[in-house]
Amino acid sequence: MPSTISKKICMLGDFSVGKTSLIRRFVDRQFSDQYLSTVGVKISRKTVECQLAEQQKQVNLQLLIWDLEGNTKFKAITPTYLQGATTAVVVADVNRQVTIEHISDHIECFLSVNPKGFVIVALNKSDLLEKDKMENIFDFISFKNQDKVMAIYATSAKTGLYVDEIFQKLAYQMIQP
Ligand code: GDP
Ligand code: MG
Repeated sequence: MPSTISKKICMLGDFSVGKTSLIRRFVDRQFSDQYLSTVGVKISRKTVECQLAEQQKQVNLQLLIWDLEGNTKFKAITPTYLQGATTAVVVADVNRQVTIEHISDHIECFLSVNPKGFVIVALNKSDLLEKDKMENIFDFISFKNQDKVMAIYATSAKTGLYVDEIFQKLAYQMIQP
């Protein structure tokens, strides 16, 4: 029997950038109604398989994906929401520049509670933007804590573009010793 471990991931980003939609796309295909609701926080669970190449061993990693419900300003995010998360997905809406400008703040907020953590940036709703404009964003984007950013993806919760990749990459990061 492969061993199963659980890890917490936080979703961060401005209101309406697609945090909840990315989780639904990733999780609901295979698990429905796997939500644990607490006040203002929703936790979705999904197990992914990770192959540890050097040990030829398979690990089943249960991802606990934390999401804030509604319009929660990032200043109002309590440390409790972020505590114990080794990784976070910081989401922006490629069609709203201000949400991209806030990415660094969200990363900083996460790192202030989890200094050893890592993040992946999702430039979401890429299905609504022309390809050359998307490439333009990639050319100019940079963050304050760049070394903590594992990857940047142009995602779409609508088409599913790069959604699995994000969570799979985070999973591999979290099983590293
Ligand atoms: P949240 O506030 O960050 O959780 O954002 P939601 O997941 O609630 O999404 C906000 C709105 O954007 C909803 O109307 C979604 O249907 C829409 N949306 C989210 N992701 C995408 C995407 O990738 N493409 C498009 N076209 N719409 C999206
Ligand atoms: Mg939401």
